[in-house]
Amino acid sequence: MPRLSPTPHIVVVGAGAFGGWTALSLLRRRARVTLVDAWGPANSRSSSGDETRLIRTVYDGKAPYVDMAIRAAQLWRDAEARWQREVFLPTGVLYLFADDDGFAARSLPLLHERVVDIQVLDPREAAGRFPQISFADVRIAYFEPGAGVLLARRSCELVRESVEAEGGTYRSAQARPGSIDAGRLSHISVDDGTTIAADAFVFACGPWLGPLFPDVVGDGIIATRQEVIYFGVPVADRRFDPASFPGWLDFGAGRWYGMPGREHRGVKVADDMAGLPIDPSSMDRLVSAEGLARAREFVARRFPALARQPVVETRVCQYEYSPDGDFLIDRHPQAGNVWLVGGGSGHGFKMGPAVGEYVARLVLDDASPDAVFSYAHFSEGRMRVRGTDRRRLHS
Ligand SMILES: Cc1cc2nc3c(=O)[nH]c(=O)nc-3n(C[C@H](O)[C@H](O)[C@H](O)COP(=O)(O)OP(=O)(O)OC[C@H]3O[C@@H](n4cnc5c(N)ncnc54)[C@H](O)[C@@H]3O)c2cc1C
Repeated sequence: MPRLSPTPHIVVVGAGAFGGWTALSLLRRRARVTLVDAWGPANSRSSSGDETRLIRTVYDGKAPYVDMAIRAAQLWRDAEARWQREVFLPTGVLYLFADDDGFAARSLPLLHERVVDIQVLDPREAAGRFPQISFADVRIAYFEPGAGVLLARRSCELVRESVEAEGGTYRSAQARPGSIDAGRLSHISVDDGTTIAADAFVFACGPWLGPLFPDVVGDGIIATRQEVIYFGVPVADRRFDPASFPGWLDFGAGRWYGMPGREHRGVKVADDMAGLPIDPSSMDRLVSAEGLARAREFVARRFPALARQPVVETRVCQYEYSPDGDFLIDRHPQAGNVWLVGGGSGHGFKMGPAVGEYVARLVLDDASPDAVFSYAHFSEGRMRVRGTDRRRLHS
């Protein structure tokens, strides 16, 4: 592929965590950038919607993700300083294990090597430190003090504002790729009937990446329904504020996670098991009675003070699962100037700024992606899982 000119025009489709940060990183490396989104940054249909997301570096011993999360954490801090707006709540993240703690234990050597503080707590120590949490069925816990909570919707909007403030263009429009000729894409079409030509194109379309590229992505990325429930806290009870309550992941019967509320929104609780496949454009976002009941049962067991508290808000989002839960960050196999960026698989938000930096390097420096993010890896996984129950695969 010929190297791009020093100031190429690049269209980025999708202003979620991946696309927004990619647009900003490309701009900061002197590209001319047009960012396009159908419904807006962190809109209610997108995977980056909702108020908050966890950032952590414990990653099941997977070095590329540990390194990316460490880099992302630095870039989030830089962004906060630049914006002079809070986007990171330093709550720490607590990992609770009823039995097998491999997810954290496998990461320990990597974290120690990279000097990331991670504390191993027995249930008694943990209960002394976090009295609002019941550790009755917990065998071992880990606490990562440098981890925390990101303000998701706010940061996506700040990224979009920065794109415009730093010379990029933002367009609110639905895009379709034009036809690929001689291994290149020359333009996208948008819904007002116009086209946008560019030297290169990045499609960071979250759960829409499969439908947009049915042949090369297609059912390799599936969108699964995920319910999020916010429980109220007792009057004047400060134990669930970000200053006293950490983000947490619970590996017991099922897999749950959550975080303190911000701006008095209640405690966020969500089931991490993949739900049924959905259409992100048309799904009604109403939680199910069954999901509510399971969340309430879990909350009563883990946070006894919240057992009788009402549900104060709910959301329904989707994970955009790749075959192995790995990101897809690579060239389109038939178009050298088109990049496919997606497969966040329920853990992508935190990585936004690092993914943006990474994609800018691939596009502008003609670099090759790590094997784990490559189209070859994605495609091999797609063939392997075809016809299997993808929900079970990820549970
Ligand atoms: C309930 C839930 C909890 C999560 N928790 C965490 C967490 O704690 N930590 C974490 O790191 N990650 C978490 N994630 C995962 C993370 O949120 C996603 O991986 C990430 O937000 C994906 O970002 P994206 O930019 O790829 O996709 P999206 O945010 O979906 O962005 C895609 C954008 O593309 C636009 N678009 C699509 N098609 C077109 C088109 N044709 N033309 C124009 N625009 C288009 C859409 O409007 C959308 O804005 C969670 C996800 C969910 C659903």
